Amino acid sequence: MINFNAGPAHLPSSVIEEAREALLDFRGTGIGILETPHRGNHFLEIMHEASVWLRELCGLSEKYRVLFLTGGASTQFWQVPANLLPEGGSAAYADTGHWAAQAIREASLYGEVKVICSSKNDNYTCIPALPEVPANAAYFHITTNNTIYGTQWKELPESNIPLIADMSSDILSRPCAMNRASLIYAGAQKNLGAAGVTILIMHEDLPGIAPRKLPSMADYRLQLAKESVYNTPPVFAIYVSWLMLKWMRSRGMENIWQENKRKADQLYRFLDQSKLFVPVVQKDSRSEMNVCFRLAKPDLDSALAGFCAEQGITGIKGHRSVGGFRISLYNAIPETQVHTLLEVLSHFEKNNI
Ligand code: PMP
Repeated sequence: MINFNAGPAHLPSSVIEEAREALLDFRGTGIGILETPHRGNHFLEIMHEASVWLRELCGLSEKYRVLFLTGGASTQFWQVPANLLPEGGSAAYADTGHWAAQAIREASLYGEVKVICSSKNDNYTCIPALPEVPANAAYFHITTNNTIYGTQWKELPESNIPLIADMSSDILSRPCAMNRASLIYAGAQKNLGAAGVTILIMHEDLPGIAPRKLPSMADYRLQLAKESVYNTPPVFAIYVSWLMLKWMRSRGMENIWQENKRKADQLYRFLDQSKLFVPVVQKDSRSEMNVCFRLAKPDLDSALAGFCAEQGITGIKGHRSVGGFRISLYNAIPETQVHTLLEVLSHFEKNNI
């Protein structure tokens, strides 16, 4: 099956095969990865290597620390303000869709949230223009890629206050100045492996002051001091992220980025000339990772989903909150699968126009 789901999403077959082997025997130890202790050297080496590779692939210096946490990116919606938003202080947020709005809601539990730009009135079909970021806010939070609406910031903005970026659905998908961010977080289940681990990349200067008393698990400083093993981390999910990082290194980021661009360009070009398929996002805000469209004849929605399924293509339905269709083109999706999709869509259009 060709799998265009938004996450958990397609993984390279070599990654799945290596994970399968490790289920039975992890690194020649005679025991499987699911049975491997998290404080044993074999696993600690995996975590260390994954951190080094991740920093290297992101082009970040050793001033950035990597954490492997649990609770999904959604936990970061509250963990960020809990750690970084002082009592009586404020934080700036960009409202670019569902996940950004969730982050805003959770932050407002901890202090004042200044929504400095929003594309809500445009039904989130674009990235809003960025006004000056208030210098007295504790940090500025953006969602770099809006998985549901198919919009993406063209680049990480420069900010005079710490920039916090939810990069769950576009981390390592294109060249970008990640060193503009003080904290990047991402659930792994799209570009970085399996569900169960959230990856944080944090500048060492960031969590200097704790604004309030925090439970141990919530405290970035404790998690950093304990190097992600304060409690039992999600061993298997971290291992799959290590495999994904190894796969990305062997393919080369430049090759991955160029292929990502070609995949998205071809799909948008097709949609733009079509009479049946209507891209929903404004041109300058289009995501290379999640391509959203609807049908000019919405009564054909289920026929299209059925036709694609017959042709071995799954995961194309839009998020339930917006409907329509969404094709997720994460790093692991080969260009050939996009070609197959384009043939199937063209065929459907010819039969239905
Ligand atoms: N942020 C973005 C941009 C997402 O796409 C998602 C999930 N799809 C989330 C946050 C929430 O992630 P999780 O399910 O890992 O909590």
